[in-house]
Amino acid sequence: MVLLDTLREGLADLDVRGLTRRRRVADTPCAAHMTVDGREIVGFASNDYLGLAAHPRLAEAIAEGARRYGSGSGGSHLLGGHSRAHAVLEDELAAFAGGFVDAPRALTFSTGYMSNLATVTALAGRGATLFSDALNHASLIDGARLSRADVQIYPHADTEALAAMLDASDASVKAIVTDTVFSMDGSIAPLARLAELAERHGAWLIVDDAHGFGVLGPQGRGAVAQAALRSPHLVYLCTFGKAVGVAGAAVIAHETVIEWLLQRARPYIFTTAASPADAHAVSASLALIAGDEGRARRQHLQALIEHTRETLRLTRWRPIDSPTAVQPLVIGGNEQTLALAARLEAEGLWVPAIRPPTVPVDTSRLRISLSAGHTFADLERLRAALVRMGELA
Ligand SMILES: *Cc1c(COP(=O)(O)O)cnc(C)c1O
Repeated sequence: MVLLDTLREGLADLDVRGLTRRRRVADTPCAAHMTVDGREIVGFASNDYLGLAAHPRLAEAIAEGARRYGSGSGGSHLLGGHSRAHAVLEDELAAFAGGFVDAPRALTFSTGYMSNLATVTALAGRGATLFSDALNHASLIDGARLSRADVQIYPHADTEALAAMLDASDASVKAIVTDTVFSMDGSIAPLARLAELAERHGAWLIVDDAHGFGVLGPQGRGAVAQAALRSPHLVYLCTFGKAVGVAGAAVIAHETVIEWLLQRARPYIFTTAASPADAHAVSASLALIAGDEGRARRQHLQALIEHTRETLRLTRWRPIDSPTAVQPLVIGGNEQTLALAARLEAEGLWVPAIRPPTVPVDTSRLRISLSAGHTFADLERLRAALVRMGELA
């Protein structure tokens, strides 16, 4: 019983500190309007930025993929699990988002978490130095820990500080690692400056575009295309569970980098390949994203973003200046943030309260995540509720 009691004490401690997390059960597909725990709500919690997660064409693509290739891959990519669906998708991805390098190639993964562990550990081992933005996603942090490289954390987006660290480093292998869109702030990394520093110091530049792929840049080709970067040392990570509306991830880079990952990256080698039906659906989603429907959805999303920025400026709390679909409103303490989220929820508005350790202490926030599935009427409901709560608070 002592072991269980230790866990119970730990759970009670989380509770006292307002850090207990609770899952909601979605009864309908992920969408701006959905039923959660039996109640109809407007959801501002998902990363489904283009509203594609419930798109009929993608559901049909999964069904078609399953009919053609079956439900399971049956093995790892190197031992029989690599299907034609994965191979086709890799070629499409290299063509779609590999414009930053002369010989692009893509490698698909089951999740972005694993693609990040794979990339960081394969490119930076013992003796290497990783330079990591302070607000990077947990998967990049865990990759850095697993790599056994020396890790230097630079203050968020502070390229001066990073330049000084690079100047002072004599590591034989260096890699700069950053999110493109920071998931809890919505801000965009200074990619052009990071690319310059990487070139000057002979460092890899590993960028995680989980929140930019499909949304930013021409045709949704992502943050690197938006910044018009070019470099053979750029390693681009994108995920398919967010704007793409399916699941999985890919690394896109120079073909030599990809061959190295394929040969050496343990999170690639020692796991079952994702369902080929999912890969087939990601291909279908890329076609939507690159086409007229994608363009229309991105335009609507942009209008929603601008409208929300105006609204949040008028509340009594502190919005973070974000040009993306992630619009955070910093409240401060955990309890207060939770209370506001609960009151929004009572009004049928689902806005998650983000607390430490996901964000720094005393910066707990409501994370309003916009989707092309939202209407201006949804935003008006949110605005009215925030104004009311601000008057009462
Ligand atoms: C969501 C996310 C990941 C993880 O991707 P999954 O496919 O969900 O595992 C990695 N990096 C960032 C920045 C993310 O937001």
